[in-house]
Amino acid sequence: MKKPLHPESLMMTHGYQPELSEGAVKPPIFQTSTFVFKTAEEGKAFFEVAYGLREKGEQEEMGLIYSRINNPNLEIFENRLKLWDKADDCAVFESGMSAISTVLMEFLKPGELLIYSSPTYGGTDHFINDYLKRIGVDSVSINADDSKEAILEKVRATGKSDKVGLIMIETPSNPTNSLIDIAMCKEIADELSSETQQVKLAVDNTFMGPIWCHPIAHGADLVMYSATKYIGGHSDLIAGAVLGNTEDMIRVKTLRTFLGNMASPHTCWLLTRSLETLKVRMEQQAKSAIYVAEFLKSHPKVIDLVYLGNLEKGSKAYKIYEKQYSSPGAMISFEVKGGEKQAFKFLNHLNLVKLAVSLGSTESLIQHPASMTHAGIAPDDKIKMGITESLVRISIGVENSEDLIHDIAQALDAVNN
Ligand SMILES: *Cc1c(COP(=O)(O)O)cnc(C)c1O
Repeated sequence: MKKPLHPESLMMTHGYQPELSEGAVKPPIFQTSTFVFKTAEEGKAFFEVAYGLREKGEQEEMGLIYSRINNPNLEIFENRLKLWDKADDCAVFESGMSAISTVLMEFLKPGELLIYSSPTYGGTDHFINDYLKRIGVDSVSINADDSKEAILEKVRATGKSDKVGLIMIETPSNPTNSLIDIAMCKEIADELSSETQQVKLAVDNTFMGPIWCHPIAHGADLVMYSATKYIGGHSDLIAGAVLGNTEDMIRVKTLRTFLGNMASPHTCWLLTRSLETLKVRMEQQAKSAIYVAEFLKSHPKVIDLVYLGNLEKGSKAYKIYEKQYSSPGAMISFEVKGGEKQAFKFLNHLNLVKLAVSLGSTESLIQHPASMTHAGIAPDDKIKMGITESLVRISIGVENSEDLIHDIAQALDAVNN
């Protein structure tokens, strides 16, 4: 038997046949809206499969029809991304938000209850508490401190424990890096399922995937990404992805076909190019983050460093970390002594590190959650979540770590206490 290759070895070739594209070593951009059928019979057969009028035959390949339904650039990317999470299938979206909102719309009906982790990405929070509420989907939020019993108690208190449609979690949470136990959420999903309906578990794996955490291996049904972040990795595109088993992904892809929120061929071509360096980029980013965190830890103007490599051994978070993640990642949050004024002074003095939201890119990015990504959160909730006026969040890029430390050090020097 042939030895199976690691995903990183397959990122340059998997799912692409050069002989179908004039021998081009790289996939061209299939910048086309529609595809020519050889015969009317072939067109009919493709539509039967695409619209679910009959099951696809064992040997049958899904034929190319129209770029809202399928396109080679979308398929090459999807077939490569799914190798990391060992998923049956993948669907690429035009943004992380469209991936998440499509899952929420497909797996929840009016009258049902959503269980979600808080804090969660601002856009996700807004979709849940604004749009879903308006269409009659209630929700209950859980956080990293809740035990399984506490969560089940919260759900029972809503009086809708028999109406749970979906559990959606984001771990580690942003910007506080608190961790949620995926396997525990799977147990909760199973307990709340009935004979007629299995409660699904969806995990937003943007911060640690697809290299350092594989939620499906811990019991998740669906994995979601903002591919704008590590997967794209160069701050030059917006995209998202959903992965899962064949049955669930037929549902996700069918809704995507009718919402029309798939990514474009050009975006998928860029994403496919990014996948070739995904692992080396993420490993380098995590390696530099160790040095930067070490520098920050002992700096007199820095307090409350939040970094997964810094968890207290034996704590609840540490136990989840050991079980679920293979690296502390490349996200660091910390407080600059002296409130917003000094935090801003620090941010304004950085040169190499760019002052911008987003994360996971080749260049290091830093932002001020209280006034930027989390500006929409009520002041009391911000305090509960640990999002203070002094907090900054940095995403470490692939620059030389000594240069990064030098830049951070000189900007901290500008801060007066
Ligand atoms: C950025 C982000 C999103 C939203 O993704 P977009 O690509 O900006 O639509 C969702 N979840 C997390 C955790 C994110 O960081």
